[in-house]
Amino acid sequence: MALTRRGAGVVEAGEREVPVALPGEVVVRVRACGVCRTDLHIVDDELPTPEIPIVPGHEIVGIVEQVGDGVTALVVGDRVGIPWLSYTCGQCAYCTTGRENLCVNARFTGYHTDGGYAEHAVADAAYVFKLPTGYSDVDAAPLMCAGLIGYRSYRMAGDAPRIGLYGFGAAAHIIAQVAVHEGRTVFAFTPPGKTETQAFARSLGASWAGDSTDAPPEMLDAAIVFAPVGALVTEALSRLAPGGTVVCAGIHMSDVPGFPYRLLWEERAIRSVANLTRQDAREFLAIAAALPIKTRVAPYDLADANRALGDLRSGAVRGAAVLVPEA
Ligand SMILES: [Zn+2]
Ligand SMILES: [Zn+2]
Repeated sequence: MALTRRGAGVVEAGEREVPVALPGEVVVRVRACGVCRTDLHIVDDELPTPEIPIVPGHEIVGIVEQVGDGVTALVVGDRVGIPWLSYTCGQCAYCTTGRENLCVNARFTGYHTDGGYAEHAVADAAYVFKLPTGYSDVDAAPLMCAGLIGYRSYRMAGDAPRIGLYGFGAAAHIIAQVAVHEGRTVFAFTPPGKTETQAFARSLGASWAGDSTDAPPEMLDAAIVFAPVGALVTEALSRLAPGGTVVCAGIHMSDVPGFPYRLLWEERAIRSVANLTRQDAREFLAIAAALPIKTRVAPYDLADANRALGDLRSGAVRGAAVLVPEA
């Protein structure tokens, strides 16, 4: 299922040859692929799409079917995950200082290279991760971006004891469980009136859940904004205790409105999180193996990718949408 025209808003079914693994690569039979909000930004042309046609999808779970020359860490039959980060140069000022997520030559799955809205995917084996057992293929898919980028955002919140999560979708429902497990107090914010989502957040251990316009019962030490809504940045900032941080987790967001300086005063901070490092993936997958995290998924047939994208666009998906190719 490929985006064949810039801004088409939909993907189109097509047939391709099964890829062949070049040296250093693996070819994976896709078992499941999560649908991320970034995919929506790509098909809706809210992100400049460098490659057309492109097969979206960067939350890939699959079984290794071919191993290229030189690949030693993976063998045929391994169950693996393929995330957003698909290549870094290893030489730039970011790569050499532990920040390969900001690599100036980085390439991304389902954006520069074909992703997982397909029956097969090919990837550089150095950016592929074995997945913990204890998760079905469908349940594991959201770990690969909602989980990973959510985890990086969570780490940027530091050791904040009281964490607000703005937008309680795929990423927040995973990170809430990690935060509760680590003894943090979680406050969940949803669009006004989304009482079912608020109840879901409480069921995962959030100590409070309410409308994004509501004041939480306590000030927050950090807030992570997962929804692509700039107004939530200032809303979250207004709920921070001194020294607190707002972390913006999305790749694209509507404009952030102006705000009085007193909201930022007292060492409050606003920052964004971009992409992931392979170290983030290793750390997060170790936590996922130990917990385990319960993911709420909405499976769709791969052929129904446009329905999944539409449901995500309209806010109708509960948890994480996941595409499943026919067996
Ligand atoms: Zn994503
Ligand atoms: Zn680099």
